[in-house]
Amino acid sequence: MGSLDRAILTGFICRLCSEMHRIVIHIYGEEGIRLCISEKISRYLTINISRADPLPKTICKNCLERLEKQHKLVMVMENAANMLKGRKTRAAKSETKQ
Ligand SMILES: [Zn+2]
Repeated sequence: MGSLDRAILTGFICRLCSEMHRIVIHIYGEEGIRLCISEKISRYLTINISRADPLPKTICKNCLERLEKQHKLVMVMENAANMLKGRKTRAAKSETKQ
């Protein structure tokens, strides 16, 4: 196994889990921008990412999945909160179900 093979095998470091992956998504690449990865990271995580920092700008598929799950969860909860707020103003009764 030559050094080129090893370089291919090592792959890219994921910015979020710091593991090496052969398949990663570039945060500022076409897909990363389409998926709003940098916006989601800055919204849901406490880490700052910018194009100018010297750290990796790639994330693995596992972390992307986790980020998307978090996004969906927040969307569901925000929608629920808005719905409940709307309901509260209408003063509906909700003790009929059991
Ligand atoms: Zn990762």
